[in-house]
Amino acid sequence: MAERFIVNILGTASAKPKPNRASSAQLLQAAERLFLIDCSEGVQTRFLTQQHRLQKWAEEGGYQGVKRLSKTRLDCIFISHIHGDHMFGLFPLLNTMALTGRTKALRIFGPNALGSVLNFYKSFWGDKDPFELLFEPLKMKEPQTILDYGDLSVEAFPLKHGIESYGFIFREKGPCLFKKEAYSPRSYAYCSDTAPFPELSSWVKGVDVLYHEGTYFAEDNPKAVFRMHSTTHDAARCALEAGVGQLLVAHYSSNIKEEEIHGRYEQQLKEIFPASRALDDGDIIDLPIIPLK
Ligand SMILES: [Zn+2]
Ligand SMILES: [Zn+2]
Repeated sequence: MAERFIVNILGTASAKPKPNRASSAQLLQAAERLFLIDCSEGVQTRFLTQQHRLQKWAEEGGYQGVKRLSKTRLDCIFISHIHGDHMFGLFPLLNTMALTGRTKALRIFGPNALGSVLNFYKSFWGDKDPFELLFEPLKMKEPQTILDYGDLSVEAFPLKHGIESYGFIFREKGPCLFKKEAYSPRSYAYCSDTAPFPELSSWVKGVDVLYHEGTYFAEDNPKAVFRMHSTTHDAARCALEAGVGQLLVAHYSSNIKEEEIHGRYEQQLKEIFPASRALDDGDIIDLPIIPLK
């Protein structure tokens, strides 16, 4: 029985959160497992909000067997880079996990510098936590498998962002069966803060769904270059070159007005890659099962 492959969007703002948009965080439910990708400020309270949304979504005709988004159920955390808008939620989340009695070891993947941050946490607050924190430093120049469960693998690859930064690809591994019928393995790539670079589209080639940051409008390219971020057109071009199924974009600059996101901003994406979607907090992306012919 195939499990659902669902991406829960917990944050779509860039560095400055807004009342309706938190900074970067996503929860991926895949093959019975629960992964947190980036962990912005306030992430743990958004688990609860998202659980309600997910239940409502299921009642309205979505997947009926939704699992609880429990913090204690988290299998691994993946941190793309140590800018605050991608990791300031870690300490309270770890603290709550300890208070709710988690005993299962927790693996956290991230750039080497994250190790010092976690040691700082441990030395002041986490020394008596009932679970072991297993830090897995990332170090690679091209995509590399960092986890392999047999039915699901995770790859990491470097991004280009001024400080050490990584993207991730989650892939189901065949043979994939649903009601005894074979279906094509699903895949999801997460490209956090990055300037565009030529190898990226080949690294995420052919994934079903690609998340790619798009901090700026296309005309703000000089700003994007200066700050090592991407524009709408950069994200859409990457999706086009990679031939992905769908493109999801967020990490909006605070200068982008709320009414522009599903207007001019999304139009800029679709000009280049029609299957594009500008994300909102709480969005649920359910990767469908497509039978093999
Ligand atoms: Zn960021
Ligand atoms: Zn950043």
